[in-house]
Amino acid sequence: MFRATAERNAMSLTGRSAAVFALGGTIATTADPRTGELSPALSAEQLLGSVSGLDALGVELRVHDFRRLPSASLSLADLDALHAAIRAELDSGRVDGVVVVQGTDTMEETAFYLDLLHQGEEPIVFTGAMRDATKAGPDGPANLYAAVIAAAGPWLRGAGCVVVLGDEVHAARTVQKGHTTSPAAFTSPGSGPLGLVVEGRVRLHQQLPHRTTVPPGAGGTADPRPVRVALHTVAFGDDGTQLDLLDGQCDGLVVAAIGAGHVPEGLVPRLHRLADRIPVVLTSRIGNGPVLTRTYHYPGSEQDLLAAGLIAGGDLSLYKARLLLHRLLSIGCHDRTRIAQAFDAIGRRDG
Ligand code: ASP
Repeated sequence: MFRATAERNAMSLTGRSAAVFALGGTIATTADPRTGELSPALSAEQLLGSVSGLDALGVELRVHDFRRLPSASLSLADLDALHAAIRAELDSGRVDGVVVVQGTDTMEETAFYLDLLHQGEEPIVFTGAMRDATKAGPDGPANLYAAVIAAAGPWLRGAGCVVVLGDEVHAARTVQKGHTTSPAAFTSPGSGPLGLVVEGRVRLHQQLPHRTTVPPGAGGTADPRPVRVALHTVAFGDDGTQLDLLDGQCDGLVVAAIGAGHVPEGLVPRLHRLADRIPVVLTSRIGNGPVLTRTYHYPGSEQDLLAAGLIAGGDLSLYKARLLLHRLLSIGCHDRTRIAQAFDAIGRRDG
C-alpha cells in the first residue's frame, strides 16, 4: 500500500542512476545501548535500506562506503580523494549524478570545496540529517530520498554541488548551516534556496547559479608544501595581539571584519604589513551580504583596507573565502591580481 502510494506520487526515474558516497555523520550514527551516546557506524547500504519508497523510484544506485567519520574529522585530503572517486564514477558514464552523505556540521564547506573542483554537468548532491535514527522524526531517510531524486533526475544538470535538506535545494556557493539543532537548519542568506524537491521532482525557484571552478591544474605549479590559511574574526575592542601572532605563521589570511568590512583603526598597520607579504582577503563576520568596496572612507574602513592591499571577498562567507584562498594557493596561484580576479568571479552573486 505504502509502496503503491510512493510509486504513484514520485515521477518515474526508471533507467536513471546515481552514485552514493557515504562519509558518516549523524545520519549514520547508532546509539551505544548502555549510554545512548552516538557515533557514526552505519554502512551506506544500511542507510539506504532505511529509506521507504526508494526502490519504487527505479533509480539504479552504485553505493560506496567511503568514510565513517564525524564531519569535523574529514580533511581536505579526504575531499580530494572523494573528488577523484566521483570523477571515476562520472567518467565511466554509468551515473547521472552523485549523492554525498555526510555530517551537516561542515557540509557548507565540503560542498563548496567540491564545487570548486567539479567541472562536470552532473549534479553532486550533499545531504545528511539533523536528527539521528534514535530520535522521534529522524530526517535522514527523507533527506536521502530527496537527494537521490535531485541527483538522478535531469533538473540540476549544470548546477554543480548543491545541498538538499528538508526538501530544499541550496547552491553550495550560498548555503549555510544556520542553527545547531533545528531540522530546518540550512539556509541561503540573501538568495534563498534554488528550489524544492516535491512530488518526486525538483522544482526550481531561480536560475541555476553562475559557476566558476578552480580544478586541478588551473593555476601554476602545485605547491608541494601544505598550505596554511588563517582565519581571524575581528571583535569589538580587538587590539591586534592575535593578528601579530599570525605574522609569519601562514601563507594567506581571511579577515572576518565587522559590518560591511571594517576594523578598529589600530589593526590597519598590522593588516597592511601582512598584506605586503601574503594575500589577505576581507570578508564580513556577519555572513549575510557583501563587503563594501567604495562607500566608507576612514581609518579601518573598507576603502582604507582595500587601498592597503586587502582583497575584497564579495559576499562569500569567511569559511568559503578561506577554502577558495586555500585552493588557489595550493595550485600555485600566489599572484595578488589573479587571486583578486578569482574572488571577483566567485565572490559576487551575480557572477
Ligand atoms: N556532528 C555531526 C557531524 O557533522 C553532525 C551531523 O552529522 O550533522 O558529523
